[in-house]
Order: sequence, then structure tokens, then C-alpha cells
Amino acid sequence: MIQLHELKFEPFISEEKINIAIENMAIKINQDYYDKTPVFLVVLNGAFMVASEIIKLFKGDCEVAFVKLESYKGTETTGKVETLVGLNLSLENRHVVIIEDIVDTGITLEAINKILKKENVADQKIATLFFKPNAYQKNFSINYIGMEIPNDFIVGYGLDYNGLGRNLSEVYKLKKENMTNLVLFGPPGAGKGTQANFLKEKYKLVHISTGDVFRYNIKNETALGVHAKSFMDQGQLVPDKVTIEMLGAEVDKNPDANGFIFDGFPRTVAQAEALADLLKEKKTGVSAMIALEVDDEVLVERLLERGKTSGRKDDADEAIIRNRIHIYYEETAILKQFYLKEDKYYGVDGVGSISDITERISKVIDSL
Ligand code: AMP
Repeated sequence: MIQLHELKFEPFISEEKINIAIENMAIKINQDYYDKTPVFLVVLNGAFMVASEIIKLFKGDCEVAFVKLESYKGTETTGKVETLVGLNLSLENRHVVIIEDIVDTGITLEAINKILKKENVADQKIATLFFKPNAYQKNFSINYIGMEIPNDFIVGYGLDYNGLGRNLSEVYKLKKENMTNLVLFGPPGAGKGTQANFLKEKYKLVHISTGDVFRYNIKNETALGVHAKSFMDQGQLVPDKVTIEMLGAEVDKNPDANGFIFDGFPRTVAQAEALADLLKEKKTGVSAMIALEVDDEVLVERLLERGKTSGRKDDADEAIIRNRIHIYYEETAILKQFYLKEDKYYGVDGVGSISDITERISKVIDSL
């Protein structure tokens, strides 16, 4: 899986398949135009890569010309075609082979047709690497087709999403389920917060740390904060009802999120079930639970160290730290089973340098 801007794309057509399609097109074009000195009219930007290959495989004489047209903004066609760069040579009496990367609605072809009508060409044919028969709305026949594809938004091999992705040597399609919702799991001190800070930047996710939200409320002396404080100071869990409501409110604050990193939530089965319901309402779900695995003694050491500067009462006292770890194993570790059953559990070694651990987690996310 790859990410371009805020969207995710999955591998779709391999480089090998693309090369075979292009070779087949080139064989036919060679047969038809070998002795006609055609003009290859390349439709920029997307067609530059396929054009380069077809033209290299052409064995006769030829010329090359370009037009630059644009009809897409983001992943939708606007229905209007703008000519950004026009023709720079006369095509009168020439045999023209239009090279396109993709033909979908056909409105770009229509615009090119209009341009060529004024040129009095001898004849014209259309070659396209990809053709979407289900999207095509025009009647011009398309003479050379590399391959037909379903009506998905694709990138790579010259095609872009808002400028990115043209350099990819294989083709990717837009992932339908576009939210990535990660449950970052592990005992207190496992490094969830630290990792979340890197991952939210890398994958453009919203990070919700229930501990941080509670601490923020305690600092601002809200009703929620007053309620949570007594539990937190002892290293106990805040009651489910309060926690679930608070989490729901945090999710609702980010209606356009690309996905969430839940850090410190869920900690009970009731919370896990509530999370599943909440995400279901948004037509999505938990993508993975990523569990950082760290030895207890390392945890105690890390938390005592953090307690020297964090100002957190629950980090300053070894007995409270051990209680939090104990609660994790008593009440929270059972969630491993919950996500294992759904085939969403991924254990990651949480000992090592911060960047090594980020890399281990990234590998899991990229495989989703
Ligand atoms: P953390 O910063 O994740 O270590 O959380 C600190 C404390 O906040 C915990 O020991 C609990 O008292 C409380 N807390 C955080 N998340 C939850 C949760 N999902 N359910 C109940 N209590 C929580």
C-alpha cells in the first residue's frame, strides 16, 4: 500500500503486465505505420511514460508532438477540458497516432478531436494504454488498447493524483476503505505516546490519547477531570461509561479524519465493543491492534525515569506503576484475544531505538 497526499492506493497492475501491453500495442502500430512517417501526438501529462516506450519501439521514421490537456481535479473528472499547451506543428496531410495514458469518459479525446478537425490530417488513430469501457461515454473508436480496466481511480506509470504518483513504475488503484484506525496497545511505558507522535505525521492520522485527554481535563478542572482524577492518581481505570463518552466526543471532533491512532483505548472489552460500534457508524472499523511488547522491569525503569520530569503522580511511585502494569495484565491484556479473533492483532517488539520501533510498526501498517 502507498499513500499520496491523504489517500491510500493498493498495487493493481504490475510493471511486467504493463510492459507486455505496451509491446503488443507497439507491434500493431509498427505494422500499420512503418512506412508512413507518422506523427505521434502525445497527450500530456499522463502519457509521457507510455509514449516514450511506444516511440522507442517504433522502427520507422516518425515525428513527435505534444498537447497538454487537463480535465481531472483530484479523483474526479470536472467534465471540462482545458488546453494548457496547444499544437506546435502543422498536422496537415499527416498520419496522426494520438497516444493517451488512459481513456475513461472520452471527453479529453473529444477535445483532441476538435483540435485535429482544424488540421486536415490524412488520418488519425488513437492508442491508449488503459481503457475504462464502463466509464466511456463517446463513440470514437479506439484503435490500439493496452488493456481494459474497471472503473477505478488509478495512479502510477505517468498517471497522478493531484500531481503525485507519476513516477511509479507499476499502477495502483484507490483503496476503497480509506480510513486507517489503529489501536496502539501495550502496557504503561511501552512507548505508545512516543510512537504515536511519529505515526500520526507519517500516515496523517489523528492521535487520541485517552490519558492525555483526561490529564487535560484535570488541568482545566472540568467535571470530567474532577471525576477522573481520583481513579488516575491511584493508577486505576476510569469507569467505562465516562471513558467511552469522552472518546466518542474526541472522535466526533474530527469528522474528516483520515483515520485515528487510539492510544490507551480500548482498555476493556466494553470499550473495544463501544469502539467497534462507533466506527461502524462511520462505515469503517479498527484496521489493526499494534501491541508494543516490553518486559515489566524495563517498563518500571522507563516510567520512574519519566516520572522525574513528567510531573505525573502515577509515574512517581513504583507501587502505583506496578499497579498500572498489574491492571494492564488483569483487565487489558484480554483485549489481545479480542483482536486476535478478528485477525487484527500484531505484536511488535517495543525494545530498541525509537526509530527502529517506528520502522517495525510502519511495516505492519504498510501491509494492511
Ligand atoms: P495513560 O496515559 O494511557 O497511561 O493513562 C493514564 C491513566 O488514565 C490510566 O492509568 C487510567 O487511570 C486513565 N485512563 C486512560 N485511558 C483509559 C481508558 N481507556 N479507560 C480507563 N481509564 C483510562
